[in-house]
Amino acid sequence: MQLLVASRNKHKLKELAGLLQDLPLETVPASGIRGLPEIVEDGATIRDNAIKKAVETARVAKKLTLADDTGLEVDALKGEPGVRSARFAGEDATYHENNKKLLERLKGVAYDKRTARFRCVVAIADENGLCECVEGICNGTILEAERGGGGFGYDPLFIADGQTKTFAELSPEVKNRISHRAKAMQKAWAVLSRYLRERSAGADDSPPPPQRERV
Ligand code: IMP
Repeated sequence: MQLLVASRNKHKLKELAGLLQDLPLETVPASGIRGLPEIVEDGATIRDNAIKKAVETARVAKKLTLADDTGLEVDALKGEPGVRSARFAGEDATYHENNKKLLERLKGVAYDKRTARFRCVVAIADENGLCECVEGICNGTILEAERGGGGFGYDPLFIADGQTKTFAELSPEVKNRISHRAKAMQKAWAVLSRYLRERSAGADDSPPPPQRERV
């Protein structure tokens, strides 16, 4: 069975593929299916956007679909950039421009006041509508300058609680163990396993196999 991952972000797809690898599902990126709509992420919350992406894509593709929407919430900025994380420095802002704007907005804020969290919402839908929505959070601190060349987005500025390296300095394996996305995907994994179990139970309307005679 296929699982459509409603994202065109190659960094995100790579992380999600790693997190889904033990499920008996063939993951297909949005770019692998023709005619999928470009979903406008205009929801008021991260959760709204994740649900919109999953439900609209699943309805058109007629496939089990998973969508992830993520935002960085900075306490000193009252939760900004939050749902606007991708567009913080403008509509087509690059990751670096968003990071630069974040550093400008946090100028003069002491280290212990630079607390933040990544919030990742994963929605799972099929052609009949939403199945479930789960969330993962990773708490940490925003540095005063970028560090590291790995990861993507705000990773070079974010140190997760209990770590000494930014997400951009950690190996993908370590980020994939402790991140907001990893936490959300652990819950999504349980939802998908249950979905597959229920589907295979429902599909099994063939007569039961003959009982073996006891000897
Ligand atoms: P999206 O709308 O879920 O694709 O993500 C919004 C923005 O959040 C992206 O443009 C990235 O800047 C940022 N983002 C999402 N996930 C991560 C992550 O795992 N690390 C760092 N930044 C991320």
